[in-house]
Amino acid sequence: MEDKVAKSLTQLVFEKIRSQGRISRSDVAKDLGVSPGSVTAAATALVDAGLVREASRTPRDTSRGRPPVDLCVVADARFVVGMNLRDGLNSAVLTDFVGTVLADCDLPSPPGRKTLDAICNEIETLLDALLNKAGLERADLSAVGIGLPGFVDHPRGQVHWSPILEDRRTLVGPILSDRLGCPVHLDNDVNLLALAELWFGMGRSRSNFAVVTIEHGVGMGLILDTQLYRGAKGMGLEIGHTTVQLDGALCRCGQRGCLEAYIADYALVREASTALEWDLRVARSPQQTLEILFDQAKAGNEAARLIFERAGRYLSRGLANVIQVFDPEFLIISGARLRYDLLYAEEVLAEMHKFSDRIGRDRTEVAINTWGDTVWARGAAALALSVLTDHVAAHPVPLDTHPASHRHAG
Ligand SMILES: [Zn+2]
Repeated sequence: MEDKVAKSLTQLVFEKIRSQGRISRSDVAKDLGVSPGSVTAAATALVDAGLVREASRTPRDTSRGRPPVDLCVVADARFVVGMNLRDGLNSAVLTDFVGTVLADCDLPSPPGRKTLDAICNEIETLLDALLNKAGLERADLSAVGIGLPGFVDHPRGQVHWSPILEDRRTLVGPILSDRLGCPVHLDNDVNLLALAELWFGMGRSRSNFAVVTIEHGVGMGLILDTQLYRGAKGMGLEIGHTTVQLDGALCRCGQRGCLEAYIADYALVREASTALEWDLRVARSPQQTLEILFDQAKAGNEAARLIFERAGRYLSRGLANVIQVFDPEFLIISGARLRYDLLYAEEVLAEMHKFSDRIGRDRTEVAINTWGDTVWARGAAALALSVLTDHVAAHPVPLDTHPASHRHAG
């Protein structure tokens, strides 16, 4: 079980400063609803530890005493890496302590399931390429966050099942921490995408929102009261495997009638093979089949268009269910497949509203986000930063006694 220890005031002060960029002590106190004196004590500990610094504001009226002073996070106090692993492509970003991306790197990854050793080798190769690009060494890193598809137990660093890993119920986190020589934190990739939206994206000013992704599968991440919700067993939210059709199409999870079995890549490819009588053995790849299907639908092929329309109808029900169950203030639909705009047309959203509208409830605001691959890795960096922050901000050590201070103090 994950420890649910309440955060210390020092942690809360630190998080407020980072989320605001720069902010005065009195505004921190006001926002957190605590006394200015307690914020001053916490801020002093953070400044002494080299995690936060003071920045003078240009005074509007210099005749009235001292210019106001803001607090901001010391960007180069720590460095972390965030990585996203997926079928075909691994990506990574290096960020500073604020979360600013200093370097990024992508490397192709052979598709299909791999052994743990093969995945570890890919991770090390990617990490070294990234660090080489940034002119840093492994010893400069304070933490690495990694997102991957599947059922991931974040607190334990255990991967129960992943479409990219042969081994099951493996303690990947501790093994990687040993190999990389720094703490490695794992999580489900869609959880980390939700974290990226919260830290850097459309969710920055929101407290409660859901992210639904349509990629190779269908995933969901949920932010409740500005915290990532992982469920009781820390496994994430599998909207893709909720049933939308009794005795329906076979899903890759082994069950029938899952939402994913109607709208994911492989579902559309399967439909193409039956409705259009395409021989998939001669198709070059599922991705190419999908591209051809999309082009044909756009060019007016009725059967191809109906495949997207049907998928869209299932998607609208799935999204409406998310709204009915969670009542989020904001819903972000995200993923590489969003360019298949036939699937995400206005009608899908209209139908979603039709199935979720309730008297007295304002419509849930919906946004479609098509940002690229790097954001998944940024989410993993946010994970590394948040675990690191909880650790260092909970017990700030004065700079002159901190072993890492000699590297960054000058
Ligand atoms: Zn399923």
